[in-house]
Amino acid sequence: MINLKKDIKSLWGVGSKREKNFQKLGIKTVEDLIYYFPRSYRDFSRITNIRDAKINEKVAIKITVSEIKNRPTRRRGFIITEALVSDKTGTCKVLWFNQPYLLRNIKKGDLVLLAGNLEFEKELVLKNPEYEVVKEPLRIDFSSSKNLKDEQELVQSEFKHLGRISPVYRESANITSRQLRWLMKSVLDQLQIKDFLPDEVKKSQKLAGLREALREIHFPRNQKSQEGAKRRLSFDEVFIPQLSALLVRKNLENERSFSIKIDLGLAKKLKNSLPFKLTNSQKKTIWQIIGDIEREKPMNRLLEGDVGSGKTVVAAFVLMLVAKAGLPLRSSERTKGGYQGVLMVPTEILAWEHFQKIKKFLENFGANIEILTGSTKTKEKKDILKRLKEGKIDILIGTHALIDENLEFKNLALAVIDEQHRFGVMQRKALKDKDKKIFPHFLSMTATPIPRTMALTVYGDLDISVLKEMPKGERKVKTYLVPPEKRLKAYEFIKKEIGKGHQAFVICPTILKSDKLGVRAVEDEYEKLSKSVFRDLRIDFLHGKMKPDEKKEKMSDLKKGLTRILISTSVVEVGIDIPRLKIMMIEGADRFGLAQLHQMRGRIGRAGQESYFLLFTDSENPETLERLKALVRIKDGFRLADFDLSLRGPGEVMGIKQSGYFDFKLASYTDFELIKEAKTEALKIIATDSSLRNYPQLRTKIDKLKEIVHLE
Ligand code: ADP
Ligand code: MG
Repeated sequence: MINLKKDIKSLWGVGSKREKNFQKLGIKTVEDLIYYFPRSYRDFSRITNIRDAKINEKVAIKITVSEIKNRPTRRRGFIITEALVSDKTGTCKVLWFNQPYLLRNIKKGDLVLLAGNLEFEKELVLKNPEYEVVKEPLRIDFSSSKNLKDEQELVQSEFKHLGRISPVYRESANITSRQLRWLMKSVLDQLQIKDFLPDEVKKSQKLAGLREALREIHFPRNQKSQEGAKRRLSFDEVFIPQLSALLVRKNLENERSFSIKIDLGLAKKLKNSLPFKLTNSQKKTIWQIIGDIEREKPMNRLLEGDVGSGKTVVAAFVLMLVAKAGLPLRSSERTKGGYQGVLMVPTEILAWEHFQKIKKFLENFGANIEILTGSTKTKEKKDILKRLKEGKIDILIGTHALIDENLEFKNLALAVIDEQHRFGVMQRKALKDKDKKIFPHFLSMTATPIPRTMALTVYGDLDISVLKEMPKGERKVKTYLVPPEKRLKAYEFIKKEIGKGHQAFVICPTILKSDKLGVRAVEDEYEKLSKSVFRDLRIDFLHGKMKPDEKKEKMSDLKKGLTRILISTSVVEVGIDIPRLKIMMIEGADRFGLAQLHQMRGRIGRAGQESYFLLFTDSENPETLERLKALVRIKDGFRLADFDLSLRGPGEVMGIKQSGYFDFKLASYTDFELIKEAKTEALKIIATDSSLRNYPQLRTKIDKLKEIVHLE
């Protein structure tokens, strides 16, 4: 018997070389293997006679080999394996090209199933058909069997490749569908597996058992059984994360936070101090947040809005309101110092940018704002930590890495997290007040639009605010997909614009050329461009591997306008605000996701000036070009995300790995029905047994999921 946890290497026929090849497909364990689902199927379930087989169509025939031999051809090194085969109704020639080893597998007299395209060239010919030698005992059965129907069933249950609906896998690294089929079949036959899905769920959803579903997804008896298998396995994919998310939410609901009474007079003053009018969505969002934090239950809100829609302003606004709010409503929580807030952002550069912006915005209101990042000097850091604990800092700004610092606040009431979609309970706990056991309210912000179904699946629902309008009106960014032959012209254009006082970015996919062959790299481009086209200009480069201080300095030079062209990796992707930036040129654009490109595009033209986003690619793949052209056509981030979702699925769109979203293998984020059903079932279980005491296998499954997505 085989169980799921076993190493792939423990399987018969998998040595260390095979093991490596499997690993390239992401298959390490038996479970990985079994969950490596077919990409598609081919239906060879109907076996015909040679006489009835149709010319120029895919056929499957069961024949006896009368003759088989290799013969060389006039072209050197080119070998043809030629066979003559027959059944009771006729004969046919078979040719295989350059597979001389076939002689070892197929012998004269063998009963063989062949599938391929039948042609007629003076005689019937099958070229490069797939084959499967019928097993010895079966051979006797076949020749003596009179009942064609029995025979057919026998064939179907026994064959791995042909004579059935046959799975086609994504192949690579020397592993073929054929090899996968053999392995799958033998593993499935011996697999010991417990179904983690409770019987009552299966019953109410009319779902197949796990073992059966796994068998049928690989080797379906018919289309209906394949669909049933797919439904069951899709259900699992959406059910487990939802159950997990709903449990987290349930736990969170039992937690307490501060219930904060906002000073509305201050809100008004803040509003009036702004150099602009808040948009309606900004106002609405601020109200929603005020409503949330008045309650004792920890706020758990996601703020979505395109780059430049004004999220940072909202964050600064509410951080200030919280810091200067009156004392807690409940007397048991009375403390002398006010509340504190923290804003966490993805990169150090951004942290500085937010720090400067927010400080300026709030400087007349007497808020103590500090910044803490990886490059903060030890002495300074010590001082900040001390003041934080004493409640002398109102708002702390830093990178996501702050979580690891074991921060101690006096009264942390609001945590705002920028561009980190999922913020697990563990991370929340890290910020939880140690003595009073109070959770801060949470606000996550993102520029990535998250479809409703995805929010449902991943968060088990969540409060969402959306900033719909762009405060400065439509941005005037022109996007072009520049053909390679116009590269020099583009450089000339950049030079001209820089002569007028503007600045430009050149983004490359990698740092060093050796990182990835054939891809333009930051350091090499810098070498090249600084010595040729842009010789007379001050140009510089920047990438993620540099020291924080160095990066800061380079950014500062850019902001001051000293650096005219910056060559960089996509570290600049999020948040940076350089008003004079007019042109952004993207090398190897095909290597970035649409969402990522759109984010980068959001960096330019922020002051409302006309600006240029130039995409370069060496790819000639029509699909890739189509994708990039969408960027030229579509300006709106949400619409772009929809387009991307329809084209490539959520994995690519959301950048699954970074964001903690799941890429389904079978289910789809557009299958709202299934996601809803799964939610219903998950809620039923939580209502009766929220600790999952009676469902140990479900518990295990969820714990494992958390390991993968670091939800907790
Ligand atoms: P996001 O964080 O969503 O990318 P920001 O909050 O950084 O957006 O805002 C982008 C720019 O727009 C900033 O320069 C900000 O000062 C400005 N801004 C924000 N809200 C408004 C508004 N309501 N009207 C005019 N400008 C605004
Ligand atoms: Mg921002």
